Amino acid sequence: MNSQIETPNILLRCEKLNSEIGFLEIITIFVSMRIILLSLSLVLLISGLPVSVFCQPKTILAIFAHPDDENIIGHVLAKYARSGHKVQVLIATDGKEGTRVTSIPAGDSLGAIRRQESICACEALGILPPVFLHLDRLDTKIGVRKYLNCRKQLLDEVKKHIELLQPDVLITFGPDGEYGHSEHIVTSAVVQEVLLREGWVEKYPLFFPAFTKSEVNNDDDISFVDEKYLNLKVKYSDDDEMKMFKAAKCYLTQFTESEIQELITDETTDKLNIMYFRQFIVTTGNRTDFWE
Ligand SMILES: [Zn+2]
Repeated sequence: MNSQIETPNILLRCEKLNSEIGFLEIITIFVSMRIILLSLSLVLLISGLPVSVFCQPKTILAIFAHPDDENIIGHVLAKYARSGHKVQVLIATDGKEGTRVTSIPAGDSLGAIRRQESICACEALGILPPVFLHLDRLDTKIGVRKYLNCRKQLLDEVKKHIELLQPDVLITFGPDGEYGHSEHIVTSAVVQEVLLREGWVEKYPLFFPAFTKSEVNNDDDISFVDEKYLNLKVKYSDDDEMKMFKAAKCYLTQFTESEIQELITDETTDKLNIMYFRQFIVTTGNRTDFWE
């Protein structure tokens, strides 16, 4: 009888001992796992591989009017590609009228060269090759009817590519079109229209690159936004910036050597390495008065 009573006590002591050992073992395993993970991260950092292999890669789709438009956020695109994310640019027109700093006449030949320049730039940034929509123009210079057709085509194409790529983030110019360029503004408006029309504002978060007043101090043409509305600050590295310079050098028909040098000087002088963005946000509700 006594032995029957004592046995459970012995068992109890053993169970307690086992549970103490078990607890210690769990802590040991936990600490060991952390050490292994930290060591692995260190190895990946040293070997230059992106640590974000541990994270779910995201898809960023930037939609612009012309080959070269993406260069304004080249460092940011390079940063996310370097971190292992899928980054792609969708370009509405071939920019075949863009004779800016080239003697090549406007037309399909210039469009073909500009497409090649864009492929070169995307490679320099380390992002996927660009997708071209080959639209004629996005303003009324080609006539109102033709413009409306091109705009409608852009609506359809933007919707199609968003559905195809399922991006986690969309980027396009803000309603200011960077400096009021009509084709930038129309492209921006079309992306917003697609999101509003399809009810996709929350599903596909859209961001506009933007500048503060102090950033555009020396340039009257560039638009700016009050800093309180810039709700995303992206920090990039000097290496990302170097990729942006390399990409800019691809655009021989668009930038002179002195313009590229000016870009390099401005960017390297600015040590903050921050690009601002503003998210396109729409409120919902059922108010019955404007001031409710
Ligand atoms: Zn442009």
